[in-house]
Amino acid sequence: MSERLPVEVAFLGEPFDREAVIHTLRHVAMRMGWTLRPRAECRIIYATTENPAEITAREGDVVILSSQDVKSHMTESRDGIRLREDHAGRLPFYHPKGDGIDRRGWIRGDVVAGAHALLNLLFERKNRPENGDGWIRFAEDWWTGAGFRKPEPLADLWLNSIALEAEKIGWPHFERQGKDAPILAPGTVVLTHDVDYMPTRANRGMPRFLRAVLRQLWTRRSATQAWRVMSNYRKAFLRPTPYNAIKTIADTETILGAVSSFQFTVKRRHGSDPAYDLSRYYRAEDDLRNLLEREFEICLHGSYKAGRMPGQIAREKTELESILGTSISGYRQHYLNFHPATFFPQLESAGLEYDMSVGYNDMSGPRAGTLFPFKPYDIEKAKPFSVWEIPFILMDTTLATTYRFSSGEALDHCMEQIRPVEKSGGCVSLIWHQEQLSGLLDPGFDGTYWTLLEGLRERGIRLTSGQRLLPAMDELWRISIEE
Ligand SMILES: [Zn+2]
Repeated sequence: MSERLPVEVAFLGEPFDREAVIHTLRHVAMRMGWTLRPRAECRIIYATTENPAEITAREGDVVILSSQDVKSHMTESRDGIRLREDHAGRLPFYHPKGDGIDRRGWIRGDVVAGAHALLNLLFERKNRPENGDGWIRFAEDWWTGAGFRKPEPLADLWLNSIALEAEKIGWPHFERQGKDAPILAPGTVVLTHDVDYMPTRANRGMPRFLRAVLRQLWTRRSATQAWRVMSNYRKAFLRPTPYNAIKTIADTETILGAVSSFQFTVKRRHGSDPAYDLSRYYRAEDDLRNLLEREFEICLHGSYKAGRMPGQIAREKTELESILGTSISGYRQHYLNFHPATFFPQLESAGLEYDMSVGYNDMSGPRAGTLFPFKPYDIEKAKPFSVWEIPFILMDTTLATTYRFSSGEALDHCMEQIRPVEKSGGCVSLIWHQEQLSGLLDPGFDGTYWTLLEGLRERGIRLTSGQRLLPAMDELWRISIEE
């Protein structure tokens, strides 16, 4: 085991939520190789006070300034996070007396509360009705009100600022990438394929083909692309099942040294659900067995309403497991139809280990402000949820229909989105729908995916499935604190 730095967290004044502060700091500890302990030489002082002058801190303490404002924001306000420009960048919850303070190791805004609010989607939680339907669009979230044109990894920046201040005041800097250290660096991309359509031998993907042509004409406004779909389909028609790319994906990813997960729904329960019935209508035995034998991962793609129906995720998980004859650990909500207040408790009680539904349908980038896996926090019970969230930052259909990129533009965009992940040693997921890789949805976007994977592999980025990361993430989380 590599050496870790013991760090104490001391509270001055009454924080907005003591457990939430510790919980959020564990994410810094996890990335920096720290272990939070009741007593240690290195201290983080989390000070909730209206008068910073009364803080007694030693030389060598990191001080994070908080105030009663933070508490009232967390509990009463429905506003987005208040930000203020500082020499260090935009700080959240800038302390009312922050301007008078200029001490090394002191952070003038509550970066912990800011990260907590972002990671737990607090704005959305407070402003969208729990019993509603659908998903939040980027423009409806807090970013636009704060002047952002796209989501930024602010939670990471804010949490990193704690480590940066610590370094400035001379905390020992341990090698985080030692041989035995469980790490995610040099950057990991979790590859995922939502299975939203499967053809049968009888229909040969004809319904999907007709929708794909319309999609090119109406949504993408491209007669050329519509023509390419038709011409590709004509060639594919002689295959037994056009639009089923599962085997090709597994074969090609294997050649590239990659592994991925496939998210399947169990059966159609709603008009917006995939049309297949995994156990009957679509005879999936061969595909499923093939994937499992080759150690690809199968996750649950919860039906449209599952994320908002108590107990439904658990029921669908049991159904999928009985079809597969094995247990599953990962989840993504179809259409991202969920509310943050009710979704995570459902995932936890279903016994799932991780989720990948936090991202936008209509925008690339980190919806929760982070490019790292994290543990959502149970605000009602004041404890971490057992599930991991692996945020997703890219989805093929968003690039094709919202951005209306050509396949070349899509590739550049993907590389641009993944660059900060590589730089920070982060870990995110991306979605490339199964049917897209048949080349019969947005022609060219199949090639984009394969070129992207080759590019990422050349850069030394790990291309894997969520399940394979769980042991390292669990270990990192465990050693981030010593009770
Ligand atoms: Zn879906």
